[in-house]
Amino acid sequence: MPVGLSLKNVSHEFGNTRVLRDINVDVAPGELVCLLGPSGCGKTTALRIAAGLERLQTGSVLIHDEVVASAGQYLEPEKRGVGLVFQDYALFPHLDVAGNIGFGLRHMAADDRRKAVVNALERVGMVDYIDAFPHQLSGGQQQRVALARALAPVPRVMLLDEPFSGLDVARRAELRDTTLHVLKNAGIATVMVTHDPEEAMYMGDRIIVMNEGQVMQDGTPEELYFHPANHFVASFFGEVNLFPSRVENSVAATPLGEVATDGIADGTAVDVLVRPEGLRIGAAGHNGDVLANIDAVRSLGGVSLMHLSVHNGPHIHARVPRRQVIDKGGVVSITLDPEMTFVFPRE
Ligand code: ATP
Repeated sequence: MPVGLSLKNVSHEFGNTRVLRDINVDVAPGELVCLLGPSGCGKTTALRIAAGLERLQTGSVLIHDEVVASAGQYLEPEKRGVGLVFQDYALFPHLDVAGNIGFGLRHMAADDRRKAVVNALERVGMVDYIDAFPHQLSGGQQQRVALARALAPVPRVMLLDEPFSGLDVARRAELRDTTLHVLKNAGIATVMVTHDPEEAMYMGDRIIVMNEGQVMQDGTPEELYFHPANHFVASFFGEVNLFPSRVENSVAATPLGEVATDGIADGTAVDVLVRPEGLRIGAAGHNGDVLANIDAVRSLGGVSLMHLSVHNGPHIHARVPRRQVIDKGGVVSITLDPEMTFVFPRE
């Protein structure tokens, strides 16, 4: 794979605290990779090391096959050809939009600079605001300008850190869409940090899930969602129903039936995880059905969340299409969708 950006075996410490443990991140030109994980897992530190804002300690960083940081080697941030959009990487308040975007293009002749500024603003739909000052713009508009400012010098790599987190839901959706299209059209290797799994799935060609400074899994959104590597990854993508069990005769028994255990040794303590959309709800009636009472139904719009209690068993949550909802008080049968049921040895 051609290298857009590569972090190889990067570890990092602050004082005696290890915040990155031997992480690898590879991004091809034109690819968008999301770093996803809980607060404090080291995402921002990884991004700052890639940009050169944090001095690399162990490992190496390559941009377009050039080593920009390794033991004894360090290229300054402004020479790396990276565009940055950080949540707190504010626009210069005393410069208008043209001045903000033109700042990184000072080496150009005035005419060319103006053309590049207009071109960058057209890409993010902000050309009408070229003479505005930052305080005259909404948060979403400011982030559009920040994106244009980062893109205008034609960087080799784009690094985005929680770029939408200050925005309301509608603006965030709109700006995600614009950002995705602009970056895809530009064909630049991009890393975006987020703690929001839905955002990562929407934006990322690949997602790297991190926890406590380590890479838990690196894959496409589909791979992570349907083939999570471990309990952490499976439960990071939303709520799961959890059934502790033990493997016997190559299956794990749960209150909802037996689950195949794919080569885990008999006698191993396991956790069976089922996504709420992995519970199939049907009419009760046949002998041998697993039955549940409907305790409550909450509409989430197009889908509803059913709170169920299995007869003589646990409370569980099922997510079902709206038209399939049966009212509170009813009894339903439940089966498991094997695609959304996962078994992991207990950690
Ligand atoms: P968040 O989403 O909260 O920013 P993150 O995953 O981006 O989290 P980092 O910001 O990379 O995580 O921080 C990783 C750990 O390193 C945290 O425990 C943080 O407190 C610590 N840390 C970050 N920067 C420094 C620093 N300059 N000095 C000391 N500790 C730091």
